[in-house]
Amino acid sequence: MPELPEVETTRRGLEPLVVGKSIEALDVREPRLRWPIAADLGRRLAGRRVTGIGRRGKYLLFATDGGTLLVHLGMSGGLRFHDGAAPPPGRHDHVDIRLAGGACLRYNDPRRFGSMHFATAPERHPLLRHIGPEPLGDDFTPEYLWRSTRGRKTAIKLHLMNSRIVAGIGNIYANEALYRAGIHPARQAGRVARSRFDPLVDSIRAVLADAIVQGGTTLRDFAGSDGRPGYFQLALDVYDREGDACHRCGSPVRMRVLGQRATYYCSACQR
Ligand SMILES: [Zn+2]
Repeated sequence: MPELPEVETTRRGLEPLVVGKSIEALDVREPRLRWPIAADLGRRLAGRRVTGIGRRGKYLLFATDGGTLLVHLGMSGGLRFHDGAAPPPGRHDHVDIRLAGGACLRYNDPRRFGSMHFATAPERHPLLRHIGPEPLGDDFTPEYLWRSTRGRKTAIKLHLMNSRIVAGIGNIYANEALYRAGIHPARQAGRVARSRFDPLVDSIRAVLADAIVQGGTTLRDFAGSDGRPGYFQLALDVYDREGDACHRCGSPVRMRVLGQRATYYCSACQR
């Protein structure tokens, strides 16, 4: 599943290819994504020039000189740039965003949990307006995160994965950040001491930044010819390592289900 680092890498990869180009038309072969693509999306975007690509949480924001296209990649979506005639669309190539000069941005999504919306004021769009601060942005501070947990009985891991608290921290990176910070994922959020939030915020930022740096090295694949965006993973400390030795203390990594998501941790190193 594309998480924040993959979305950011997609954004960085597409920016030099798409910004400045005009949208000619949308070919929507399958509108039934997580929400149906509005019938007038193509009409709204046709003739508009892409002025920038932003990101909010896991949403890509294609700003144009007349509104913004919001794209979510869902569980399995990807955007691929074709700089000339695109090959015949495959079964899961649901949308082509045709650009002036013959280029094309093709949306592929086998599970169809992604989405596309038009917004004139994206910050006020219902999908975006309740999203918390960006984890790599200046508003996401230890003080902010600590305050957000006061009185909360929910597990700290689920608190971090709540996009109203902080944008775009998915399961893999919540597991890894808590391991790096030495905090047990099931600990009640309201019972994590103030002093632990500095290392926690540092860990969240570091694990995401490391993944984005690593993503940069896969950009060539992303823009390459295999038809799939470059999903990638860090060398992970705990995620998907149940029973393997903790890199710090050698105890076996444990797994339990928390909020219906696989949760990996070291019971010796994380308290
Ligand atoms: Zn350990």
